[in-house]
Amino acid sequence: MSSFTRRRFLSLSAATLGTTAAGTWTTTLAVDATPAPGEVKEIPTFCEMCFWRCGGIAHVRDGKLWKFEGNPRDPQSNGRLCPRGTGAVGAHYDPDRLRQPLMRVGERGKEQWKAVGWDEALGFVAERMNRIKAEHGPESVALFNHGFGQRFFQHVLKTWGVINYAGSSYAQCRGARDVGFLLTYGAGVGSPEPTDIRNTDCLVLVGSHLGENMHNSQVQEFAQAVERRASVIVVDPRFSVAASKAKYWLPVKPGTDLALIMAWCNLLVQEGRYDKAFVAQHGHGFDKFVEAIKGNTVEWAAEQCDVSPELIVAAAREMASHRPATIVHPGRRVNWYGDDTQRSRGIALLNALLGNYGRKGGLYVAQGISMAPYGLNKYPEHARHRLDGAEADRYPFADEGITTSIRDATVSGKPYPIKGWFVYSTNLMQALPSEAETIKAIQNLDLLVVCETMPSEMAGWADVILPDTIFLERHDELLTGFGRNGWAALRQPVVAAPHDQKPAWWIAKELANKLGIGECMPFKDLEEYLKVRVEKSGHSWDKLKAEGVIMAPHKPITVEEGLALEFATPSGKVEFWSDQLAAKGFDAVPKYTKHPEAPPGSFRLITGRAPGHTFSRTQTNPLLHDLMPENEIWVNAATAARLGIRNREYVTLKNQDGVLSNRVRVKATQRIREDTVYMVYGFGHSNKLMKTAYLMGASAGQLNSSYRTDPIMGATSIHTNFVSLVKEA
Ligand code: SF4
Repeated sequence: MSSFTRRRFLSLSAATLGTTAAGTWTTTLAVDATPAPGEVKEIPTFCEMCFWRCGGIAHVRDGKLWKFEGNPRDPQSNGRLCPRGTGAVGAHYDPDRLRQPLMRVGERGKEQWKAVGWDEALGFVAERMNRIKAEHGPESVALFNHGFGQRFFQHVLKTWGVINYAGSSYAQCRGARDVGFLLTYGAGVGSPEPTDIRNTDCLVLVGSHLGENMHNSQVQEFAQAVERRASVIVVDPRFSVAASKAKYWLPVKPGTDLALIMAWCNLLVQEGRYDKAFVAQHGHGFDKFVEAIKGNTVEWAAEQCDVSPELIVAAAREMASHRPATIVHPGRRVNWYGDDTQRSRGIALLNALLGNYGRKGGLYVAQGISMAPYGLNKYPEHARHRLDGAEADRYPFADEGITTSIRDATVSGKPYPIKGWFVYSTNLMQALPSEAETIKAIQNLDLLVVCETMPSEMAGWADVILPDTIFLERHDELLTGFGRNGWAALRQPVVAAPHDQKPAWWIAKELANKLGIGECMPFKDLEEYLKVRVEKSGHSWDKLKAEGVIMAPHKPITVEEGLALEFATPSGKVEFWSDQLAAKGFDAVPKYTKHPEAPPGSFRLITGRAPGHTFSRTQTNPLLHDLMPENEIWVNAATAARLGIRNREYVTLKNQDGVLSNRVRVKATQRIREDTVYMVYGFGHSNKLMKTAYLMGASAGQLNSSYRTDPIMGATSIHTNFVSLVKEA
């Protein structure tokens, strides 16, 4: 941390905490508001700096938040947090946080506000919602949500009649992967991914950059695997940190991954290196699969992918030599080219050939924990169909809501109008493709409510902004996790909110009261709700508050531990040939099709993540900002030299549709292919209220104006744009 920022951080701490003492939030804190001088309290809770939700312990000294570290009892952290997790202290003190409810006074999107009280803000929201309901029906209000705090918004809005709700974590992230595995094994991948990296002998990463992609416990296991010299194979146009640990790095041309995966499948079959016993016992349609892929030769794939045939063969033989303790990682943010369900299905099938399902060192079968429900109300029957997902028969295998389908209906008014958006904790301007389409949809709304901690670009378009607390200042729903053991974790407030922010559950409850459905939140506060759930489940509330985590007894997760494999597919087997897909007109076996090449003078833009930031949510955090204040555009060093661009020089990016980015620094490096450029997602903020991050770096979301939609389940692509580099005058 630079001395300037540290001074700023410390002075902010003092100023902010001065306000805390006068705060109005009266929910019981786990820490005494008037501690003895020098007293340190340690309070367990779980992190929400990203979706991995690691258990941590907050240290509160003299009533002030001091540090946040891992909870050794917790399976997601094992006692250690990633840099973003420890940086959660900075989220509490962040000077750019939203402080009180705001209502728009000028034209939508002009970012002119007046501060109002909660009563006025929620009264306005309820009145507008009821007006939309009277004119168009309750289905015409939609919820976009992300993160753990959304639970009670979804409950209240579903009770009121909302049926269209979606998170960008599905169609803009992991959805295609889960559907690809679901179609193959009868179960999605889930989170955390049940990859037994701890015991694996060979880890194959296809476009997945563990280490930069900082999913705490998974990265810990990856580091252990590297230390005990497990083989690592990395497929990535960029020499990532993971690639630097690899035995084989395959720098494929972007968009050709599926050709490589199917050629690997074919090679394993042709050389008889697949798990014949697993396929004979559990496979469905294997002969038809073999016939379908026989044209996917190594030579063909080498030409498509622009890597040597020898490398393809060596990598395939390496992974086969370690089976079943080989994992081809399913990945996470896999929405790249618009045909991502089939690529993920290809990865699922490659794993099946390696016979690693339910095996030690492969993909284990995650177990959960059973916790009693509180007993909330049921939701009313709805008269209309949802307009997204399988119910609309638009994307037949979608099993969650699709953000862009809601957006499409908001623009077109079909099949029925969408007139209200309630947006919780998701910056749709950066998360969804085509900013222009999102703005077009917003212009058709009668109500846009944004509930957030930060003045995001999305908040800039709102009619009403409701300031949420950060996770260290609130209770949330009980976390029930799947893994090697099931577990439950408690989120509890450790410090008061510094201004007039309110916890998400409180906002949902007050909104329910204003909507006349207060009985759907029949508890005084969330502590009462959580205590009922925990004690009904036979656990001690006081013990959970003190320890933060309840672990379920261990059940078998691998064949080696006595697990009997079952597959919930229509055939009851692993579907090498998918009758389900064929019946809906899709390829029963994944088939590679070529993607467009970059136009002359342009490069394919690919994106990824940095270990110190989460999406577009952390750039103003005073601790994390210093780790990485802006992103860079990675450009091959030879290409940069040819263009006359120096390392660390600023350029502007211009995409195929003429969209221009903010200025961004060039990282000229040999660690990327010449036809590709790369940047970290989430930077380039354009909301002036994000003072620390305003116009720092470029926004990959803004450049994603051209996208394809996966016809199987509705995922939208992110790697289908090309950019040229424009030198600054
Ligand atoms: Fe927090 Fe890091 Fe864990 Fe994410 S991975 S929950 S940011 S500690």
